[in-house]
Amino acid sequence: MPETNGTNGKTLLDLGPGVGSSVEKIKIESRGLRGHLAEELARDTTHFAESEIQLLKFHGSYQQEDRSQRQARKAAGLEPAYSMMLRLRIPGGALNAQQYLVLDKLADTYGNGTLRLTTRQSIQFHGILKGNLWATIHEINETLLSTRSACGDVNRNVMACPAPTVSRAAIGFTALADHIARHLAPRSSSYYEIWIDGERITEKQLAENNAKLDSTAVRIDSTEDEPIYGKTYLPRKFKIGIAYPGDNCIDIYTQDIGLIAELRGEGEKEELLGFNLVIGGGMGMTHGKAETHPIAALPFAYITPDEALEVITAIVTVQRDYGDRTNRKHARMKYVVEERGIPWFKEEVERRIGRQLPDPHDIRFEDVCDHLGWHEQPDGRWFLGISVENGRIHDIERPASTNHSDEQRPLALRSGLRTLLSQYGCSLRITPQQNLLLCDIAENDRADVERVLREHGVITDATELGIHRYAMACPALPTCGLALTDAERTLPALIDQVQDILNELGAGDERLSVRMTGCPNGCARPYMGDIGIVGRSLNLYDIFIGGDWENTRLNRVAFPKVKSADLIGTLRPAIENWLRGRNAHETFGDYYHRIGFDALPNQAVASALS
Ligand code: SF4
Repeated sequence: MPETNGTNGKTLLDLGPGVGSSVEKIKIESRGLRGHLAEELARDTTHFAESEIQLLKFHGSYQQEDRSQRQARKAAGLEPAYSMMLRLRIPGGALNAQQYLVLDKLADTYGNGTLRLTTRQSIQFHGILKGNLWATIHEINETLLSTRSACGDVNRNVMACPAPTVSRAAIGFTALADHIARHLAPRSSSYYEIWIDGERITEKQLAENNAKLDSTAVRIDSTEDEPIYGKTYLPRKFKIGIAYPGDNCIDIYTQDIGLIAELRGEGEKEELLGFNLVIGGGMGMTHGKAETHPIAALPFAYITPDEALEVITAIVTVQRDYGDRTNRKHARMKYVVEERGIPWFKEEVERRIGRQLPDPHDIRFEDVCDHLGWHEQPDGRWFLGISVENGRIHDIERPASTNHSDEQRPLALRSGLRTLLSQYGCSLRITPQQNLLLCDIAENDRADVERVLREHGVITDATELGIHRYAMACPALPTCGLALTDAERTLPALIDQVQDILNELGAGDERLSVRMTGCPNGCARPYMGDIGIVGRSLNLYDIFIGGDWENTRLNRVAFPKVKSADLIGTLRPAIENWLRGRNAHETFGDYYHRIGFDALPNQAVASALS
């Protein structure tokens, strides 16, 4: 296949200088993503040069600063308080206890003492100083995990329904996620050269370390060719996820490519027939730029399991060739799909694979399962899903406002996990809702596992969590360089207030999902679900409503430009109106989708939409 990286199928190299965003030029000149990273690492500085910041992303790291210190440091004539965010690539969110314990240690040695579970089933560190970045990545690789291509203009962490229940484990979603991730990983050996002295882990070492077949460990198959990506990689990031039929826990319609399994039989006899593909989803947008907007993926084709890598590769290369390389805000594949249409896209894929693809079968989702609580595995052991508020694993004094029967106890989740994993060696799965599944627990150990967690203030009965279990926030301020305002730091208190309203109205057990982000990039997928709260500027948000519980339909702006102090006052009448006027069991999002926004109580605000 000819390399035609660029816009409209034309190569950027053919189009000549001056075409393409500055990031495109950095990629072209990077010599396989090397750039001058090695030299920069050797320099005694606190931060990377601008061109290297872009390449660093392909190796898993973003340069950030503590923005809460920005003004004071500037006034004192000091440079920003730079540090690095470092993200792992963990397909399907699966890792073992030994690996987790190494990450836990690294969080103290080099990070800010916390681990953060991401909405794409990965883990990231915050607060790593430039001088410690090499050692951190090196040690991560020694435990057979990797940060390669966790960020950057390539395929990102592949998501998969994480629950190892009787049927789902047999289907092997995590293994498939790993195969896709390895197939689409950059082939350049620059990662090994820079971060692990050119050493590569051998398959023998993998086996000796008892690494699971689906581990994300570094591999031995690197070359200098990039047969899938070419010299300019992709126009922007690319996201793939695999869903169990009926359960949209991975938010399939937010993916560039979503694979929805089609199965036959039940339990251990369940077998995988194929996948319905949806393509062209994506969450990000830019305020004030109408050409950017969230889009839900569209049905594309039906494929057999054997066709998966071939068809995925063809889709990726269409985006490689036709994605917008001149405007990064318009560069995701969702715009190619939206502007050229599914028929055009399908023809292009079929031309590349040399045959036609059947249309997708009927796709239906009945629920979004967060997999919390106890569930039996196929081998007779058990897994326990525990909630991790906003994915942040740390030891804190619990805020006094938390609705929680153990509210006097400190929440020592990080210490509790360390104790538990050292003792029981459970394997782990990170969920797309930033929670954790503790797996492989023997029947006889269940009571003790609960005891250890409860002694550390961790809630093991998800029904005690109320709507906290459905809430998600991105990191936002003070670390994210793109954040316009807060999310993670403010959402828990807001959720407490919403729960108080539900309790007061006799609806304390209702399901209501609230997702909050500090900017419109939408990392916590706020445009899906009942209520999305998206930062516009400092302490100012847009409130989106009208999505469905199953996350198949986008919500829309209902209340633009709401001050943070007015968020709960704006939501309260909308919640009251819903509970008063809904049909039986009608969710918040479905109610407003049915009756429209004219019925919203705050007409003055609501009239500003559309
Ligand atoms: Fe940062 Fe915006 Fe993503 Fe939040 S949504 S983590 S503020 S880029």
